[in-house]
Amino acid sequence: MKKTLLSIMISTATLTAGAQTSSASAIDQKVDALLSKMTPEEKVGQMTQISVEAFLKTTGGKLNEPHEFDMPKLEEAIKKYKVGSILNVGGNAQTLEVWRKRIETIQKLALQDRLKIPVLYGIDAIRGNNYTLDAVMFPQQIAQAASFNREMAKKAAEVAAYETRASFIPWNFSPVLDLGRQPVWPRIWETYGEDPYLIAEMGKSAIEGYHGKGEVIDKYHVAACLKHYMGYSMPLSGHDRTPAWIPERELREYFLPQFAEAVKAGAKTVMVNSAEINGTPVHASKHILTDILKGELQFKGFVVSDWQDIQYLYQRHRVAKDNKEAVAMAVNAGIDMSMVPTDFTFTEDLIALVKEGKVPVQRIDDAVRRILKVKYEVGLFESPSGRAKDYPLFNGQEHNRLNYDLASECITLLKNTNNVLPLAKGKRILVTGPSANSMRSLNGGWARIWQGDTSDETEKGKNTILEAVRNVFGADHVDYAPGVDFEKPIDLQDVVAKAAQADVIVLCIGETSYTETPGNIEDLRISDPQIDLAKALAATGKPIIFVLTEGRPRVISSIEPLSTAVLHTYLLGNEGGNVVADVLAGKINPSGKLPYTYPRHTNSLLPYYHKYTETLKFDEAAGYNPQWEFGFGLSYTNFSYSNLKLSSSKLSSDGTITVSVDVANVGKVGGKESVLLFVSDEVASITPEVKRLRGFEKVELQPGEKKTVSFTIDREKLSFINAGLERVTEPGDFTVTVGGLKAAFKYE
Ligand code: BGC
Repeated sequence: MKKTLLSIMISTATLTAGAQTSSASAIDQKVDALLSKMTPEEKVGQMTQISVEAFLKTTGGKLNEPHEFDMPKLEEAIKKYKVGSILNVGGNAQTLEVWRKRIETIQKLALQDRLKIPVLYGIDAIRGNNYTLDAVMFPQQIAQAASFNREMAKKAAEVAAYETRASFIPWNFSPVLDLGRQPVWPRIWETYGEDPYLIAEMGKSAIEGYHGKGEVIDKYHVAACLKHYMGYSMPLSGHDRTPAWIPERELREYFLPQFAEAVKAGAKTVMVNSAEINGTPVHASKHILTDILKGELQFKGFVVSDWQDIQYLYQRHRVAKDNKEAVAMAVNAGIDMSMVPTDFTFTEDLIALVKEGKVPVQRIDDAVRRILKVKYEVGLFESPSGRAKDYPLFNGQEHNRLNYDLASECITLLKNTNNVLPLAKGKRILVTGPSANSMRSLNGGWARIWQGDTSDETEKGKNTILEAVRNVFGADHVDYAPGVDFEKPIDLQDVVAKAAQADVIVLCIGETSYTETPGNIEDLRISDPQIDLAKALAATGKPIIFVLTEGRPRVISSIEPLSTAVLHTYLLGNEGGNVVADVLAGKINPSGKLPYTYPRHTNSLLPYYHKYTETLKFDEAAGYNPQWEFGFGLSYTNFSYSNLKLSSSKLSSDGTITVSVDVANVGKVGGKESVLLFVSDEVASITPEVKRLRGFEKVELQPGEKKTVSFTIDREKLSFINAGLERVTEPGDFTVTVGGLKAAFKYE
């Protein structure tokens, strides 16, 4: 039945109300006073961000280890060009001591300058302070999303902030709020998965953990940076930094809400999408950067470009003829700071552009005001570096314990035929596969080094899956042979011979580490040597436990029937090996649920919120039929759902409905369950998705225990962006689904 056309608009103002205070705070007054003293050169300097490797000493073309400053170069940047920000590690991770000395040296120079403005150092501490040796490396974002545990994500962010600040760094390029629904894209593992609500909730938790309480960030916290605003994650080809076609309605429906929520949560900085949408590079889009972000969302922090992206406007995208035109385009579009990254072309061209009147002084003042404000807010003027003795908990037991506990909630059990898991004691286990003895496959990218390729060396004090399984089950019960590498066979005969002696095979397959564009792939299927290995092992008739160590869901449909059980680890981080072994042994009861749809076929990459025309009912041959659904995950116990109740069968525009459901642990062991609330809009003016996630809560239940879980639904939770680009809730029928139970209500 067609709905009435009456639609109730929800103004974007409700999305952003209270996001930032506009009252002239003490900080604003200090910023204005400082700005009034600055020359155009000093202002443009603040807008310049240079990568540290531009100032590091090299020998024979390689950076000296440990890193050492080339002081004349650093002095030129700070004293001559008045550079406001420095980023990155410049190669390998460094020790805490090197980092502290690095920041102190930079700040000492900055404080010798006339205005004494400290430099804002920024880093990709995306799941722990991974560019400082020994800092705790937590599960990557995609794994954290699988925990569906806001509190744990917040705690991990708090520790990441503490350990980053221990290196005297106050600014973190995290969290990623990109929508992870294109599994081919190599940065899926940096996201919180495919659902905008889940991303927003986990993102807000991370921001709370990074920022701590209060407007001013203390010495244990860092400023967050939302990235990569916006639409970066949906390149048509799936290849990083290639064109996306995203109509504005879809942009506002799926890509914008999580950024809007994070801005409301007080995010202080935003990094921009490196790619283009509909033919416009986002670094040149005034509409996206100024009109939407700074206008509609009332974002009061500053916008930083991504790596070299202003230069790329002429070098790659060809929307500008040279650097100067590119700089004018980007700054006028709303970029406040340029991650240049290694020269002063931005600075020089922008000074000239201001003098020529091609970039208005007001635009420069606005950018610098925003940057200085963040410098005050992170406490840099009071304490430009830090005190080593303030950080006794760095890499301590408490932080490592949290890492293990979080990873325990991320790991996801996808299959467990005849309850083969947990494994009975005394079994002979063969551990095999290219990721069985690899810290690289557990940690993925951004692990002490950009591509994560040194983890086996830097993390050798931690346990791989093989090492942990040996520790837990006893070395004499555990045999090992890699069988194959990711891209080539090693020795299939050897592994098959060992399999014949085993009771059970733990087959660790997936991906090695990669980050960004180098992770582009031509085929989403898991690699052929790994398929060959699974088939060779299956021929022995022994039960095989697949352990999928991968940053994106590689298609395994050709070998999945050969498995008896499947564990998905994503990129669990440094405790991953221990967690896998403890899950196999039954010490941990897995409670992760998929934060993305696991595809069955390479040409059917539909998210759970696909449209009706994409279902098997209408696309009989190739409709939505994933290997595993978003939100799927098994446990060693059973949870039963009952008594789904709505407080009313009607919702009014200013009312709420409470949805409650009883969840009981009807199995034999304690466990945790993420209760997911989906809502379907039965008929709408824009073709409705079959369902959307509108709430989740994680509960812990002992055997025999029952809890009632409640959710609140209001008009906004049912809203969507209509053809006129307005956020509306249309009257009509809605269906709630929780744990397989359904209930209906009307919105009037
Ligand atoms: C990435 C960003 C990162 C930046 C600085 C870029 O290549 O896209 O996510 O924050 O580098 O390292």
